[in-house]
Amino acid sequence: MRRNGPIRVAVVGAGVGGLALAGALRRSGAQVVVLERASEFAPVGSGLSLCGNGFRALDALSLGDRVRAVTADAPPPGTAGGRRPDGSWLIRFSSEATARIRVVDRTELHTALLDGLADVEIRTGAQVVAADDTGVTLADDERVGNFDVVVGADGLRSRVRAGWPADPGVTYAGYGAWRGITRRPIPLTAGGETFGSGKRFGIAPLRDGRVYWFAAISTDRDARPDHTVLREAFAGWHAPVGELIDATDADAVSYLPIEYLAQPLPSYRQGTRVLLGDAAHAMTPDLGQGANQALEDAAVLEKLLRPAIVAHDRQRISPALGEYDAIRRPRSQAVASQARLVGRVGQAAGVRAALRDAALRIAPDRVVSARSVRIQDWHP
Ligand SMILES: Cc1cc2nc3c(=O)[nH]c(=O)nc-3n(C[C@H](O)[C@H](O)[C@H](O)COP(=O)(O)OP(=O)(O)OC[C@H]3O[C@@H](n4cnc5c(N)ncnc54)[C@H](O)[C@@H]3O)c2cc1C
Repeated sequence: MRRNGPIRVAVVGAGVGGLALAGALRRSGAQVVVLERASEFAPVGSGLSLCGNGFRALDALSLGDRVRAVTADAPPPGTAGGRRPDGSWLIRFSSEATARIRVVDRTELHTALLDGLADVEIRTGAQVVAADDTGVTLADDERVGNFDVVVGADGLRSRVRAGWPADPGVTYAGYGAWRGITRRPIPLTAGGETFGSGKRFGIAPLRDGRVYWFAAISTDRDARPDHTVLREAFAGWHAPVGELIDATDADAVSYLPIEYLAQPLPSYRQGTRVLLGDAAHAMTPDLGQGANQALEDAAVLEKLLRPAIVAHDRQRISPALGEYDAIRRPRSQAVASQARLVGRVGQAAGVRAALRDAALRIAPDRVVSARSVRIQDWHP
């Protein structure tokens, strides 16, 4: 461990979690190096819902205003909830559940987070293959070291996590998801998710009227279906599902088999290495919480490390990382487990889908909305 001077932190991965953390650590006075395997920051072509908890985390990281500048001022007008393919409502979300949710274009979010990185060294094209307590090794065998803390914010297949005593690896959720953003604004009267048998379609307007949509279909893990299957898979579904697919350029649609961490990790820290975001708790996207949880992680980690950073006091690092693990693991793992459950119900097929629909129809809106309200009720 280094003995004096500013605390040095390596952040592996320049995703939502890594970027949010890196800027905040720098503002507290740490020297921060971000190591990102991609050679450039390319446009992402999909959306992301940020919720009340995510915005509170962004505010704690002094990033709230930057991100609000690329989101709508208010939730979209009209009803949000769950529908059947014929358009009839199964459930309407309460205004309490939706009031703080905003959908952001991922490219705009990344740009906003990158703009908050003054004085942070960012190394692109830096693929980390292994990490230890003081640094990392890159794919070309270069050693980047002399750090006090190494943060693994390198996503689902984290190489930092690979050094854990028991990395559970990832498992397939049984369905794949397409995501797209329409090339032009499409007027909407409602949003949310529509449930079929083994498939779902989600609709969320961006601030400029373009629409972020996703389509989830149960399929084999190795299937790499072409997006042309979408028109047929969702034929006859209520408006504007077909129009949204047609209004999206083929190269603006991406497909991903949905995977998540196979088992909850027993610890988010090893020595002075610590995991954050998907590296720590990759979850299925069914609650729209993965990035929000990564932001919570970043806000808590930065807050706990701040006294050590301000005082250049290395003795305070280990207790801070222990506290981070104790605070973040129960919360993020509970959200991941709920997301998995919601995904199972959402992707139900045949009789199970009919049972799901019947249950949703009779469930009071406020009861179904309560989970979202509870999850968003988080404060750093
Ligand atoms: C279909 C779908 C919809 C979703 N919708 C939502 C939503 O609405 N709301 C929400 O909150 N979440 C959503 N999520 C989840 C969200 O995308 C993730 O939880 C979030 O992006 C995790 O952020 P992260 O920073 O932890 O990891 P990532 O965003 O995965 O970033 C990891 C970064 O690390 C880099 N990297 C990886 N390996 C290495 C390496 N070896 N060396 C160096 N760099 C490396 C990667 O290139 C990447 O830049 C969704 C996910 C999916 C799949």
